[in-house]
Amino acid sequence: MIYLMISLGIESSADKLGIGIINSEGVILANVRKTYKPPHGSGIHPREASEFHSTYMAQAIDEAIVESRLDSSQIDLISFTKGPGLGPCLRVGAVAARTLSLSWRKPLMAVNHPIAHIEIGRLVGNLSDPVCLYVSGGNTQVLAYSEGRYRVFGETIDIPVGNCLDVFGRNAGLSDKDFPMGRVIELEASKGKEYIPIPYVIKGMDVSFSGILTHVSRLLESKEYSIQDLSFSLQETIFAMLVEVTERALAHTKKTEVLVTGGVASNNRLKEMLEKMTLSHNASFEGLKADLAIDNGVMIAWLGLVMHQNGYRTDFEDTIIDQHFRPEDVLINWR
Ligand code: AMP
Ligand code: MG
Repeated sequence: MIYLMISLGIESSADKLGIGIINSEGVILANVRKTYKPPHGSGIHPREASEFHSTYMAQAIDEAIVESRLDSSQIDLISFTKGPGLGPCLRVGAVAARTLSLSWRKPLMAVNHPIAHIEIGRLVGNLSDPVCLYVSGGNTQVLAYSEGRYRVFGETIDIPVGNCLDVFGRNAGLSDKDFPMGRVIELEASKGKEYIPIPYVIKGMDVSFSGILTHVSRLLESKEYSIQDLSFSLQETIFAMLVEVTERALAHTKKTEVLVTGGVASNNRLKEMLEKMTLSHNASFEGLKADLAIDNGVMIAWLGLVMHQNGYRTDFEDTIIDQHFRPEDVLINWR
């Protein structure tokens, strides 16, 4: 009989608290997520988000165990996000992981968040070697594997694309208690009719959104344009930038798969543009379902398990967090 290893992952790098459980055959046994909602009109406050995570941590772990129909004694490994992310939020996850590891007497594995996004994408999308566009509230990167590491081919030099959308939406007075801001903007954009020229900012392989955000915020204040047209123009511009950098990474690496992940990957227009570009290179395109594209504990559990099975170990003393943990810092031996 083959012994299945079971990993529990804790994700708490930003506003989402995720607890996931997965086994070594890649079967997802639980995916619990709780999202901190900042007060109307404001962004994520790291300390308040971390207090939310502390408050709901035990409950989320219990829910995940119940969902998995396992007993906690059947969990073999505790994985958690080492970084990158917001310090206070990451710390809550690391402390919870250490506590579980000590009380359940199970090993710990500290993992890199962007690599976890890629590895869960490779698993559920059945991909072997994708160029990955990772677009979220806290990150914007084009990544691909090369010579033992996941390399960042291009990234934002200032704010993440999701943050640009979120701040634009708040400045426009948009909000919805059931939908993330990016989705609200997507719906507004679908009603837009006229493209308003907006700066298009690519530097080498990197993108920049802060000047664009200032520009569209001024256009908003001028009240000359509708929110629908501004949302449409903003989306078309920033998504075209992302597609351009992804396309250049694809052409350079000659890979045959493109994966889009992160919260912004839920956007249908972005997926449509990426798919068109990908197909023009005879490559295949994969957009994950929101459940596994948005920050989640399953991806952390899975990467921890992959690493553990390939001989990686995290000493208890090394379970510190790293807010600026780069994917290139991890030497990959499983590919
Ligand atoms: P994450 O940081 O991966 O949890 O993703 C959160 C980000 O995804 C936020 O900036 C959201 O506004 C954004 N987002 C969620 N849904 C959409 C959507 N349909 N279109 C664009 N952005 C979205
Ligand atoms: Mg993320």
